Amino acid sequence: MTVDQTRMKILAKQFGDMKKSPNMVAFFPDKMNPFNWHISFKGPVDSDFQGGIYHCQLKLKDYPDKPPEIRILNESGAYYIDTPLCIHGLSNPQDWTPGTQISIIVEALSMYMNLRTDRGGSGFIRQLNQDVIKKCRDASIKFKCACGADHSTLFK
Ligand SMILES: [Zn+2]
Repeated sequence: MTVDQTRMKILAKQFGDMKKSPNMVAFFPDKMNPFNWHISFKGPVDSDFQGGIYHCQLKLKDYPDKPPEIRILNESGAYYIDTPLCIHGLSNPQDWTPGTQISIIVEALSMYMNLRTDRGGSGFIRQLNQDVIKKCRDASIKFKCACGADHSTLFK
């Protein structure tokens, strides 16, 4: 098998694992590029984000050896949109564990939305604002993306 075939096999396994999660769904915006994923995920429970659905892009060009580039594509009040995110332990090549599951990355992305302190990582909105979060949450369940994600029909 070529390197790309091996990586495709790994990604197919990850896709299968993700399908078992009730909290996230993957989409493929570019049918010709299996290394570019869009993922819709639920906001963290017991937080102002609960009930919201957020959409991210993962560029898995060097996965699983290197971390993906992560961007958030809809407004959440937690992260700046379309900005490479720095998620502790998951985006820095130095502390990346090769093979970290994509679903684990997305779980962290959801959990860290509600992080109250230590919002210094790039892509994090420094001060959480409850009104903004709620406004974004209400808009998030109507969000549509060119990849085919339609949040008004997702997780029903
Ligand atoms: Zn999308």
